[in-house]
Amino acid sequence: MAKKRGANCDWCGTEVLAGDGYRLIQPKRNLGATFDRLEHVVPWLMKKNDWHIWNDVQVPEGAEPVSARTGDDLNEDAYYLVHHRDGVKIPDGFNSTDEALEWAKAGGRWAKS
Ligand SMILES: [Zn+2]
Repeated sequence: MAKKRGANCDWCGTEVLAGDGYRLIQPKRNLGATFDRLEHVVPWLMKKNDWHIWNDVQVPEGAEPVSARTGDDLNEDAYYLVHHRDGVKIPDGFNSTDEALEWAKAGGRWAKS
C-alpha cells in the first residue's frame, strides 16, 4: 500500500502523517515546518527555527485575513499555523513568528482566557 507523504515533527522527530498534526508555513517564501503537536511549535521557534523550503506554499483556504493573536490585518509576510485533523485543515494566521509563538504558548485556539 502506498504511503501518503508523511513527515517528521521538526522538534521531536515523531512521524506525522499527512492529514494529521500541525504545519507552520510562510507562503511568501515557501517556508514550512511540521509538528505532531502544538506544544512542539514553542520550543522549535525558540531554539531551532530551521525552516524547510517547500514547493508552492499557498495561503490556506479559509484562512482569516487577520492575526489570530492580535486581530490586526495580516501582511504579505504572514505565517500560518494549520492544524490538520480528521481531514479538515484549520488555519490561524500571524504577522510574525513571535505572534505564533505567543499564541501557541497560550494554548492556541483552546486557550483559557
Ligand atoms: Zn513533536
